[in-house]
Amino acid sequence: MAIFIDFERAYDMLHVPTLLKKLLNMGIIGKTYNWIVNFLSNRTFQVKIGTSFSDKYSLENGTPQGAVISSLLFFIMINDIPQGLDGVEMTLFAEDSSIYTGHQNHNKLQNRIQLSLNAIDKWCNTNGFKISISKTVGVLFTKKRRIANINIKVGNESIKIEKTAKFLGVIFDQRLSWKPHIEYVITKCKNRMNLMRAVSGNHWGASKKALLHIYRALIRSVIDYGDTAYSSAPKSYLDKLSSIQTEALRLCCGAAKGTPATALQNECGELPLQMRRLQNSLKLGTKILGNQDHPVKSAYQPHWTNEFRTFSHKDESTYTRTQDFFSSLDLPFQAPTFPTSPPWLNNDIEVDISLHKSISKKNDNPELRLISLDHMSRYQTYTHVYTDGSKNGDLVAAAYTIPILNLDKQIRLCNSSSIYAAELTAIKEVFCWISENENQDLKHFAIFSDSLSVLISIRNSFSRSRPNLLQETLRIFNKIRISKVHLIWIPSHVNIIGNEKVDALAKQSLSLPIINSTNYLELQEVFSIIKLHVVNEWQRKYDSDTKGQHYKFICPVVDTNIKYVDNNRKKEVQISRLRLGKVNLNERLLLMKKLESGLCTLCKVPENINHLLLNCRKENISNILRDKCVSYKVDFNIKNLLDVGCIQSEVYRLISLIYKGKVV
Ligand SMILES: [Zn+2]
Repeated sequence: MAIFIDFERAYDMLHVPTLLKKLLNMGIIGKTYNWIVNFLSNRTFQVKIGTSFSDKYSLENGTPQGAVISSLLFFIMINDIPQGLDGVEMTLFAEDSSIYTGHQNHNKLQNRIQLSLNAIDKWCNTNGFKISISKTVGVLFTKKRRIANINIKVGNESIKIEKTAKFLGVIFDQRLSWKPHIEYVITKCKNRMNLMRAVSGNHWGASKKALLHIYRALIRSVIDYGDTAYSSAPKSYLDKLSSIQTEALRLCCGAAKGTPATALQNECGELPLQMRRLQNSLKLGTKILGNQDHPVKSAYQPHWTNEFRTFSHKDESTYTRTQDFFSSLDLPFQAPTFPTSPPWLNNDIEVDISLHKSISKKNDNPELRLISLDHMSRYQTYTHVYTDGSKNGDLVAAAYTIPILNLDKQIRLCNSSSIYAAELTAIKEVFCWISENENQDLKHFAIFSDSLSVLISIRNSFSRSRPNLLQETLRIFNKIRISKVHLIWIPSHVNIIGNEKVDALAKQSLSLPIINSTNYLELQEVFSIIKLHVVNEWQRKYDSDTKGQHYKFICPVVDTNIKYVDNNRKKEVQISRLRLGKVNLNERLLLMKKLESGLCTLCKVPENINHLLLNCRKENISNILRDKCVSYKVDFNIKNLLDVGCIQSEVYRLISLIYKGKVV
């Protein structure tokens, strides 16, 4: 059973004196405290219509809407709300909160929930909040048909016990079938699909690419939201969502009704929804498993119900859906953690990427070499260090060399690391060496790297893909006491001796038997592995699907790229239809009962795509196309006719000629 609690005008009701007391208790004093007091006192507001203003009113309570600090103050205010008592759990997401617990015995259930709710109500009374009785609802989650009467009160008034409740934008229903939520999503998507219809036609309007942007932003985002939760819904409901996707992709391509979904998905580079749900579950699981204290960690861990379950397939849990992947992923990974020291305590680091700005792609190699050597001569008196990373398949390695000391270091990282991680690890290891070996005679270092992205990360103390590794590197850098260290960008492969040497060293390091640095991945790298896994699953499903054989002959491999686009919408639609295999030629028109005969009017054989492009005599189309293939030195077949750019244009020209400019 869960109670979804609604606080009446939570932000506006925030009781300022109580908040200030809490701030003091937390140890927030001095200037910060005075600033907040000042920010919250003597505030007035007025309404503007046109050029006229209303009277001013003063704001006694609440934090100003839209101010950055308002949310933080609200969290501080609500942070000491009582957690559930006696096995009742509580979730809190800003002002959206719920309490829930389970029990076989409905009386016990009711008592437990009531006690926790009483505690929250009491807290509200002393903190200036109020539970809205009309908007707070309870839902008893059960598969039983006969449901006991449950009565939960706030003060003296009973709250509503409903069959569904909307919490954080997801509708939870009593039987957790997700039917109401899926219906809600479908209605929302259908309205938005009309927008796509309004801006596109088969002869005019937005392109496939633009329409796909609209689909992804307005429709796919709605389908994605909460999909990890609702993916346990019965297949028949989930299929309804797939129909929405198919319909939207059909609009994007201008394809005919009845075009196979598998073909549309690959043509648009869109994962089937089942694969998308898998991908989202795996991504969420990675975030959760990488975080020791995550509140829903148990969802991704084995539970006795997974072993002894009597459920049918439709109830497959998140754990069973994702364990294949997570048990095959034997690589250690870390979710982002907070830096152990604030950024303003980091030592200053000199990063010189000026060379990158002064060279252009037009410079040839010998010229680049001279420019680089000239730039490096500024660091003549420094100890030169060269770093590099290398990747081959799953294997990842790095190296550095200090020529003047005749010192080389070879490094191997955790498999599947990014090349960025390798380049950064090389620099980390140099910092490590400097911090252990610096002395009065050896304290000026120039580290040369060809990785612009790594140097920019270090300069900005920010890395999107490897935040933890960057923090680790900076932590080691802070241990350097007396040395002056410069990081300098130089181009790769321009025949600078130290750079060439370290390049070779890094490649050799790929064969090191053991991993000796950075033995962990971070989120973005695991996400890449997940994407690969999901696309492989997609390929398996694609291969085994009997529909869309025509399209599979043209595109046998699935991936997330859009396969064919053209600036001319009419051409884009016509060629897409031919590729997707549903074209309004006579054979199909007969099936749709729009024609009496399905034969080609000239050749008197069934008129379909193969006939039209490979054998038909109208406008001499097949002979012209055959000659075209010969002149481009490719085989004369459907795949080349519909997949090679310049031949596609010829196909389009001839079809326009035969059908007098009509899209078939
Ligand atoms: Zn014909």
